[in-house]
Amino acid sequence: MQDFITQSIIDLFVPNQCIVCQRLNKVNLCGDCIAKIPNNTTLWLKDKPKTQPLFVPKFNTKIQPPLKDGYIDSILSCSKFSNHIIRKSIHYLKYKNLPQIAGPLGSIMLRSLSQNLRLKDNIILCPIPLHPNRLKFRGYNQALLLAEYFHKKLNLDIYNELYRILDTPHQMKINDRETRIQNMDNAFEARQKASTDTQSIILIDDVTTTLSTIQEAAKALSKVGFNSINALVLAH
Ligand SMILES: [Zn+2]
Repeated sequence: MQDFITQSIIDLFVPNQCIVCQRLNKVNLCGDCIAKIPNNTTLWLKDKPKTQPLFVPKFNTKIQPPLKDGYIDSILSCSKFSNHIIRKSIHYLKYKNLPQIAGPLGSIMLRSLSQNLRLKDNIILCPIPLHPNRLKFRGYNQALLLAEYFHKKLNLDIYNELYRILDTPHQMKINDRETRIQNMDNAFEARQKASTDTQSIILIDDVTTTLSTIQEAAKALSKVGFNSINALVLAH
């Protein structure tokens, strides 16, 4: 009873509410608002893959032109960044200190993931890391929170040995595509070899625009022996 009263008092002053519709809710993005996000599952596949891609198109998946260069076999994006609910949620996740919104955002990604995943065995997850300076500033890595959501839901292990070695400026603050790509050049380093029984790795990130962050991270992972390198992002 004491706990209930204390919690009620806390709720009175710090209510949980949906950041979009403002209704009181236990999670910060309610089911009604999630249901309003159109399913814009989009898939990029490598032009001439050496291995079978981990993600496959299903009925309403939008296919992008094939990836001609790079180390990524397939990229699955679950929604459009232009959607106001997605944009606002990512803003809260990254800049408004709301790590708990990673749960409902993970559920949106899980919808596309379960629809488009070809196989479920021997997969490892790899969150796109933050540079230590930015991690210190933000207090958490939003990509790791999303990866932890899939770890809990799908029982997939997390590869924690990818490091961001360059403290690059914010990609989203750079408008020019070429500069964005150069900005990420050799930004990552993987420090542990792929284990022999890991068939596929899935990079996890919140948003991608030019794919340059994902491509650079994939390059680092390929150097330590990962063969099938894929990426799952919330929005593009
Ligand atoms: Zn809502």
